[in-house]
Amino acid sequence: MSHYLMVETHGDPLGAIRQVLKSIWSNAKLEFVLAPTNGSPEVIQSPNIVHLPDALDSFNPFKPLMTSNTAKYLPEILQRTEAQSMGVLLRPCEMRALLGMEKNYHLHTKNLLTIAFDCLGTYPLEDYYWRTERKGSPDQLTQESIQFARQGGIVPYRFRSACQVCQSPSSDDAHVNFAVIGLPIRQHIMIILREKSFENLLVGNGLTIKVAEQKVIDDHRLIVAKVNERNQRVRERIRQGMADVLPMSFEALVEAFSKCGDCQKCMLVCPTCALHMPIRSASGGYLLEEIVKWAESCGGCGMCDQVCPRHQPLSTFFAYLRDQLDQENLLSNIPSKSSLVN
Ligand code: SF4
Ligand code: SF4
Ligand code: SF4
Repeated sequence: MSHYLMVETHGDPLGAIRQVLKSIWSNAKLEFVLAPTNGSPEVIQSPNIVHLPDALDSFNPFKPLMTSNTAKYLPEILQRTEAQSMGVLLRPCEMRALLGMEKNYHLHTKNLLTIAFDCLGTYPLEDYYWRTERKGSPDQLTQESIQFARQGGIVPYRFRSACQVCQSPSSDDAHVNFAVIGLPIRQHIMIILREKSFENLLVGNGLTIKVAEQKVIDDHRLIVAKVNERNQRVRERIRQGMADVLPMSFEALVEAFSKCGDCQKCMLVCPTCALHMPIRSASGGYLLEEIVKWAESCGGCGMCDQVCPRHQPLSTFFAYLRDQLDQENLLSNIPSKSSLVN
């Protein structure tokens, strides 16, 4: 059962997060951490294997840029490493992709400590360039995002299309989840632990950490729910606006892939496909069950959209088709009238 803690930040939420991360590293005896190069000024955000906790002093989970999915690198690292304990820092869409890989493709993550952060949204690369230039630095651009954490982020239509339809910008699925949405983060943030016993990971960081007040938990949940509802409405608007071009079923999506030839660019950037490439039939078409499994495992990061030469909004198709599957599951779980009577 999840355990909710609040951490006083004394006006420096990023500093507090880095301090907590270092204590987690030391208490979990991590041998290395896979972290995106988020604090650095580079605009290509390739994940790095970090061997020293002090390297996290520049880590910035709220930098509004995402150019690769960190979870994509995990299958190979997990297969090669002999480490007894390693960590990974993830956005919620990356965490969802990892869960999809565990559930649908049996990825073994035994020695992996997952740490996820609320996401305040990310810009398309070209927007990121001019916004950083206008603000002066990536850190100042980040500060703009952080300012709006309490409201759930800044005006969403500026973000990448995947962020506008994001299933949820918050996660409680990682071992340790840092929550900032809906909270006055210059005073405190929240840490959601997957199990109470993980409290041991936070010992010795010099910060004041206590059990979260119910109001703090409720404020976070309320704003996350509002963001999720808003994103759901955007998905529905896209569906209505693109009804004549969106594949409205998995069969139609498989048919749409038949026009792609041997491209596979979307698959080469996708974490799920790093573990398992969708299988094709002898005639070259993709098998329906392979595409269904891929869509079910998709975390919605939108990396595929960014590389598609045909400008196919694949993450939006998948989100829509997942909504359909959820609806079907919901309907199939509603008891029939006769069973209610009985
Ligand atoms: S898809 Fe969601 S979690 Fe991923 S970068 Fe966008 S807002 Fe963040
Ligand atoms: S299909 Fe696209 S949106 Fe989904 S996890 Fe793969 S790259 Fe991300
Ligand atoms: S990147 Fe676009 S064109 Fe290429 S296989 Fe994927 S959906 Fe098709």
